[in-house]
Amino acid sequence: MYRIGLDIGGTGIQIGLVDEKGHILERSELVTDTSHPFSEQVHAMANCIQEMIDSSGYSLLDIASIGAGVPGVANQKTGEVIYCTNLGWKHVPFREEFRKYFDKPVFVDNDATVAGLAESVAGVSAGSSSSVFITIGTGIGSGIIINGRIWSGAHGVGSELGHAILELDGEPCTCGNHGCVERYCSATAIIRMAREQLTRHPESSMMLACEGDLKKVNARIVIDAAREGDPTAEKVFRRFIKALSQTVANIINVIDPEIIVLGGGVARAGSFLLDAVRNDFPNYILYKDLPCAHIELARLGSDAGIIGAAMLS
Ligand SMILES: [Zn+2]
Repeated sequence: MYRIGLDIGGTGIQIGLVDEKGHILERSELVTDTSHPFSEQVHAMANCIQEMIDSSGYSLLDIASIGAGVPGVANQKTGEVIYCTNLGWKHVPFREEFRKYFDKPVFVDNDATVAGLAESVAGVSAGSSSSVFITIGTGIGSGIIINGRIWSGAHGVGSELGHAILELDGEPCTCGNHGCVERYCSATAIIRMAREQLTRHPESSMMLACEGDLKKVNARIVIDAAREGDPTAEKVFRRFIKALSQTVANIINVIDPEIIVLGGGVARAGSFLLDAVRNDFPNYILYKDLPCAHIELARLGSDAGIIGAAMLS
């Protein structure tokens, strides 16, 4: 049997036909169109799925289930998407709407959570029974897998690592709180810290890389400059690594998973990032002389969204 996975994002929707081992056999995509009502958006997705199945030579009889990852919060029991701000969805009956087109089980969950599931089935944490996936991009997303199953909490509102508070009365967050992990460990945080430093250290090589325009600073510029030894970029990078390492240590102290997986755009910094976190996080864990989680980089890249969604059950 095969499964359909949808990775629903604010700009595009990636769709795949996935086998039991997590290989993507067929792909399709469509542009996210938030100008139409929810039911029409689902209609477009259903058409795209049907065309992909038809053109691939498979039939609906070969499909066991349909799963979707969304950048928001979903109720796994009812299949309702509670919030999905990028798509303008609020309390939409996702499963019910899809079932109008397909007589199959339909599942929906948070996109970082499904990416974590994908890594735990077909990626770097495959074979482990517990893992925590952290996606480091514009914001911070996370997925918790315990005993091979997604853990989103007793009420489905857990696994929001990005909004765990790291600093008392710290930086204001989009969620309304202050000092959230996301304000210190994301690409957005790297950019903010780099801009602050650049006003004091215009001699930094980052200034050339952004052509003297602080609006052009991005995480890659900062990380590349740090890698090349620019002292101002190194300062920003060390601060970011300290925050990320403390977050990793918090996960270990609370959950103690077998593996913690770092993914998302910033994790493309590769071993430069991984080595820095591996060196720093032991400073902050409680049981320093006992074994603890391995820290690894995600392996499935952007495919994790499709694969994990297809794996939902
Ligand atoms: Zn927050």
